[in-house]
Amino acid sequence: MPEKPVVIITGASSGIGEATARQFAQEGYCVVLAARRVERLQSLLDEVGRMGEEGLVVPTDVCQLEDIDNLINLTLDRFGRIDVLFNNAGIGRFNWLEDLAVEDIENLIRINLMGVIFTTRAVLPHMIKRRSGSIINMVSIAGLIGSPTYSIYAASKYAMRGFSEALRREVAVFGIHVSGIYPGAVSTEFASHTKAKRKTGITTPKALRLSSADVARAVVGLVQRPRRMLVLPWFMHLAVWINSLFPWLVDRVVERRFVARERDLSG
Ligand code: NDP
Repeated sequence: MPEKPVVIITGASSGIGEATARQFAQEGYCVVLAARRVERLQSLLDEVGRMGEEGLVVPTDVCQLEDIDNLINLTLDRFGRIDVLFNNAGIGRFNWLEDLAVEDIENLIRINLMGVIFTTRAVLPHMIKRRSGSIINMVSIAGLIGSPTYSIYAASKYAMRGFSEALRREVAVFGIHVSGIYPGAVSTEFASHTKAKRKTGITTPKALRLSSADVARAVVGLVQRPRRMLVLPWFMHLAVWINSLFPWLVDRVVERRFVARERDLSG
């Protein structure tokens, strides 16, 4: 059994999860890669091997309880410990609520919220027994600011914020740290799955988007120096502050500049 620390990363097959796996491997962690696209996980594991680090691929659908149990059991069989759980797997479906399919809504809540809850629940007995561990929850700025067409995504991320806060207070006595990370837009495949159609063309300019490597460094930093929450990039604090102090102003700007134009109600 290795003495190296062990991290489980859900959604490791692309984007932020993939970049975070590389970052943890660079820090000398054994990386357990969980997602559904196994070939992608396997080539990432090969890369980790070339870096001289160990890892494990576990095909996992976070909506399936038996997959989650399998993930925890295989990790413990192979490495004997779990130091960090990075709850990162997630999807986005952005549209007016009345136009979202029931199936898409249920699927998003199952992956983004239930998946996090059940993966965390499965890992906790082990961390409680060891009296240590870090749980990093991938929230989003959408867990702090609600935007039109984001209702279901925001619902999942606001719920994750409440989950993280309550759990943090439940498990701190066991030496387990729970942190939430709240990035703004990140350049990954995420946006290509969202099917968002914008008439206004309003989107986050490329220069303001984070890279998945930026977020990966922040995640590893949260394990080294736990914080309740981390908002990225720093200027997003300003948006959160304006939204909480002047919600009426944000309502008015969003309604006139975005919703009326997107719904063809202007003029
Ligand atoms: P990607 O689409 O690149 O990655 C999403 C990951 O989630 C994939 O590895 C995918 O793997 C995995 N996943 C999806 N469904 C499941 C499932 N049922 N079981 C297991 N794994 C699943 O997007 P990002 O890297 O950008 O997103 C990662 C996280 O970051 C998400 O939680 C997202 O909400 C959050 N986030 C993203 C932002 C952005 O702008 N990109 C901003 C803020 C937060 P597979 O399909 O192989 O199962």
